[in-house]
Amino acid sequence: MKCVHLDFHTSPDIENIGVDFNKEEFTKTVKDAKVDLMTVFAKCHHGYSYYPTKLGTVHPNLKFNLLQEEIDAIHAAGAKAPIYITMGWSKLDADQHPEWHHIDFFTKQPVYFGSKPPYTDVPLRGCTWTTLCPVGGYKKYLEDITREVCEQFDVSDGVFYDICFIKDACVCDSCKAGMKDMGLDPENFDDARKYFRIKRIELMKDLTGIVHEYKKDAPVFYNGGADMNRPEYHPYQTHYELEDLPTAWGGYDLMPIRAKYFEKYGKIFWGMTGKFHHSWGEFGGFKNKDALKYECADMISIGASMSVGDQLHPCGKLDESTYSVMGYAFDYADKIEKYSENTKAYTDIALWMSHSDSDIGCSKILQIMQLEYDIVEVGDDISKYSCVVLPDRVKFSDDDKKRLCEFTANGGKIITSAESIFDELGIKMIKHSGSDEDFISCEIDEIKTPFLSYSSAYVTESEGEVLAKVHAPYFNRTYEHFCGHKNTPFKLQSEEYPALVKKGNVLYFAHPVFEAYNKSGSYALERYIKKGFEKIYSKQIEIENLPSCGRVRFRKSEEKGFYALHLLYAPPVNRGNVCLLEDFPVLSNVKVKIKLDQNIKSVKSEPDGENIPFVCENGILSFDIPKMQLHKLIIIE
Ligand SMILES: [Zn+2]
Repeated sequence: MKCVHLDFHTSPDIENIGVDFNKEEFTKTVKDAKVDLMTVFAKCHHGYSYYPTKLGTVHPNLKFNLLQEEIDAIHAAGAKAPIYITMGWSKLDADQHPEWHHIDFFTKQPVYFGSKPPYTDVPLRGCTWTTLCPVGGYKKYLEDITREVCEQFDVSDGVFYDICFIKDACVCDSCKAGMKDMGLDPENFDDARKYFRIKRIELMKDLTGIVHEYKKDAPVFYNGGADMNRPEYHPYQTHYELEDLPTAWGGYDLMPIRAKYFEKYGKIFWGMTGKFHHSWGEFGGFKNKDALKYECADMISIGASMSVGDQLHPCGKLDESTYSVMGYAFDYADKIEKYSENTKAYTDIALWMSHSDSDIGCSKILQIMQLEYDIVEVGDDISKYSCVVLPDRVKFSDDDKKRLCEFTANGGKIITSAESIFDELGIKMIKHSGSDEDFISCEIDEIKTPFLSYSSAYVTESEGEVLAKVHAPYFNRTYEHFCGHKNTPFKLQSEEYPALVKKGNVLYFAHPVFEAYNKSGSYALERYIKKGFEKIYSKQIEIENLPSCGRVRFRKSEEKGFYALHLLYAPPVNRGNVCLLEDFPVLSNVKVKIKLDQNIKSVKSEPDGENIPFVCENGILSFDIPKMQLHKLIIIE
């Protein structure tokens, strides 16, 4: 499904709202760009409504029911039109109701996103929104607005609530009173956080309940609640929209791990990027069309539907250039998305979530190693994998320990690091080394001398094979003792405890290598981690001539009996304050080898349908791709 999230946060200082809205033209633009769904606005962050409301305030310079006209135009294009209602940011409500402000637990001050509003002509760069707390009076108001929207519009296509989970505790008067009623202490952070969670879940249940009174199965999404580390909110979403603007929000490697995490729930999930060069609300900002095509192919390769953010001009006319770029990307997505439907990642390696930054680092390394992987957590079946990675900070229950021991006893391989170790795996944790930043000695390519670990090791004991050693610094760097600009040099003599050790089916990195890699991006560390993996895990897919920015995704459709191999290549570069894709070099002679113990009937490139010669020998499928650019989809039957 190809979706557009059409922002419309529109200042009351702009006149003639919707003056250039033309229903037929709007329909044609949506249809020509192959848009399947477009989210349109009931109420925006400025606090104004775009339909005749008795409860809110219609935008002062809007003369007609823009929302209804948009919905009709989108429906005429054969697309869906979910309705957007702002929650956390609504300037008009914030100005009129200071008692609805979200009050920070620590500062006891209202919570602002961006800068605190001075309400003057001081030039503003970036955001200024006051956050509201949807508890008490504001919750009642949101319920009433929801009823009004459901009365006036057919909400079958869905409702999208925005800005629902800023911070995780509030001490506004409503929250303080509520906490006292519940026997919780508003001065205690854990109590405040507990109350916040209870009230957010109650809010999600109540608002969805109202929408479902009108349309039983309508999709309802609460934006901000698709955070991997806030699982308590996940059950109350009907689907997940994974907002992630790679140009401005940390690059192109974050979406896959989130997609894999949310895919586990078995609900529909979308990736959500933007058409902007930088981020939301950037009028006149453009991403190049091939970058957007890459992002769409990337989302399809991880099994996600795609959503692209745009912001409608106050005149109400969809931007011609934006929909030309979007149409180009969606045209390609339209041809290949069927190969993603009802598919699942096909892999023999899994990442066990630690719910720390180490997960992101681990996902990055797995992607650089061009491995497809699954996400697992407490209680998941790990017996189907040949290798499980436990990044840095996994906490184990007795049951987890038992399952992991059984897994290794049955031949499963474990790659683990830092705190993710317990005695029963044959490696005994003694203590943290106490160093601030130490060094690793392990020959990797041209690096034969100790290299900086960007972290420090844990001291362990085992009878395993030592594959790398630790060199401690002469001393920890303080104001009293320091050497040079950055970090203390290494002692010439290595320590007694290992940096990398292999004991049976367990490979242990003594450093939090995944967190350190996420933070540093160190070349030496990357090679070191890869070298460790190679000691214990044999890759299911081997690709030659695909550089490190090449991404490999491998999915299977049980229902239709095919495998889909996606190869993507576009090296991101940092320019100004963005990470962007601009070069899409042609790659030649990409060689693919996949462990597949099955009879293979055909190997085809799609959507062009070209047959690719292949060889199947000893459970290995091999074929060559003479040329590829940006994205190559290979369907194996
Ligand atoms: Zn509150």
